[in-house]
Amino acid sequence: MPEKLVVGNWKMNGDLAANGSLLGRLASEWRDTKGRTMVVCVPAPYLAQARDTLSGSAVKWGAQDVSEHARGAYTGDVGASMVADLGGTFAIVGHSERRLWHGESDALVGAKAKAALAAGLTPIACVGEALDERERGDTETVVRRELDALLDAVGKDATRMIVAYEPIWAIGTGRTASPEEAQAVHATLRARLASGGAGNVPLLYGGSVKAANAAALLAMPDIDGALVGGASLDAEEFLRIGRA
Ligand code: PGA
Repeated sequence: MPEKLVVGNWKMNGDLAANGSLLGRLASEWRDTKGRTMVVCVPAPYLAQARDTLSGSAVKWGAQDVSEHARGAYTGDVGASMVADLGGTFAIVGHSERRLWHGESDALVGAKAKAALAAGLTPIACVGEALDERERGDTETVVRRELDALLDAVGKDATRMIVAYEPIWAIGTGRTASPEEAQAVHATLRARLASGGAGNVPLLYGGSVKAANAAALLAMPDIDGALVGGASLDAEEFLRIGRA
């Protein structure tokens, strides 16, 4: 069975006490017996807590965003090398919430993926269409445009990234893409990646993934894992997704 990757995206949730019990349970209970990898992407102030609590466990961790710049006068930003310095290995870039609330463009997301790679992190680059775009039949055009911008930015290093397909209408709404709908988009992404020699890039699906629907999604041939928001805040549920 090929390796599957289950990534938690806590978003702007948590505090020292809640994180301590969540991370503690994942650290003590997660065993990647089926060739599965579990990752949590935590808010920047808690990166060191993730490092300390997960050290010696099989759970990997990272950030939810990084700056496109290496260092300098960028007040409030977090550099990819800072995440790497702490021992983190992953960074989400281009989540739709950043594209929406922070106006992040395709080009900026590409620059962030490049900065993450330069620091030795594995970027988890998100693409996905809004509901009106899907209804207009533009899903493929939108995800292709977002993916092409990433590929332009990272060049040959595309083989070292992860791409997450997250239809915006499925995020936090309880409305998941069906396994077949997700697979269709993943096949498009796979074909585009393969044409650039990056056909082995892991493709994650995200959007209302929970224990009850994870197995069917993960069974699809081009779905290599899940990017999990809300359900990753509950240790029991997230562990069940990891084992699904
Ligand atoms: P959700 O979020 O699982 O809560 O829908 C997924 C995401 O935004 O990464």
